[in-house]
Amino acid sequence: MSKTDTVEKSGRDVPVIELRHVDKHYGNLHVLRDINLKVEKGEVVVVIGPSGSGKSTMCRTINRLETIDSGEILIEGEPLPQEGRDLTRMRAELGMVFQQFNLFAHLSILDNVTLGPREVLGLSKEEAEARAMELLERVGVGEQANKVPAQLSGGQQQRAAIARSLAMRPKAMMFDEPTSALDPEMINEVLDVMVELARGGMTMVVVTHEMGFARRVASRVIFMAEGQIVEEGSPDEFFDHPKTQRARDFLDSIR
Ligand code: ADP
Ligand code: MG
Repeated sequence: MSKTDTVEKSGRDVPVIELRHVDKHYGNLHVLRDINLKVEKGEVVVVIGPSGSGKSTMCRTINRLETIDSGEILIEGEPLPQEGRDLTRMRAELGMVFQQFNLFAHLSILDNVTLGPREVLGLSKEEAEARAMELLERVGVGEQANKVPAQLSGGQQQRAAIARSLAMRPKAMMFDEPTSALDPEMINEVLDVMVELARGGMTMVVVTHEMGFARRVASRVIFMAEGQIVEEGSPDEFFDHPKTQRARDFLDSIR
């Protein structure tokens, strides 16, 4: 290890998430092409782009839910391991919220939120429940704690899913189109929770087409197309003055 590496690791400036020259294929499909991305502590990076451009795949590689062909993924300067206990530990440090709520259907909301902290972090039942209730209150579903997911609305389930991720005290949260499966009237209640998280300093990667959200909280917008990061800028730069024709065409298609 070089001297600068050591300094980087002990310093504050090491990115929470870093992708270096990441490439991935699905058979003949070159799904990620030389992706380079740094997400600094406290940043909210919004990822936008046409369907099929590789946004979900990129998120999934960061959690090692997908392998990569070449390149490197570093979490706080530490390479993401291929497998084993270190991978389990590092995966637990990154919260992930998907389009589908992914709560365990047979468990109460409270048990959904306490499961990880008890099994992975080794918290006692009491500690885990106290933390879970605090988080469920914070996202506005405290009163639903003893129900099963099917008894909640989609918006409530997604907020519970966010609480479940937060219960693991993640270093960063990744959201992959968290509101696209929701009825329109429930979108804002989920976005509001995400805005609060962002304001609280959480490091976030958010795949979304919600431009209002992006304008309010994004530190940076990344535009992906055909597996590449085509454009990157502040929300105002990107939405008001996109640099590429591809970005302009995409923005026209969603406005
Ligand atoms: P996005 O999230 O931007 O819509 P995805 O990352 O889901 O894009 O998909 C990128 C491309 O990879 C698409 O063409 C998709 O069909 C393909 N793809 C995604 N997952 C797989 C898989 N497990 N096997 C083969 N192809 C896949
Ligand atoms: Mg996707």
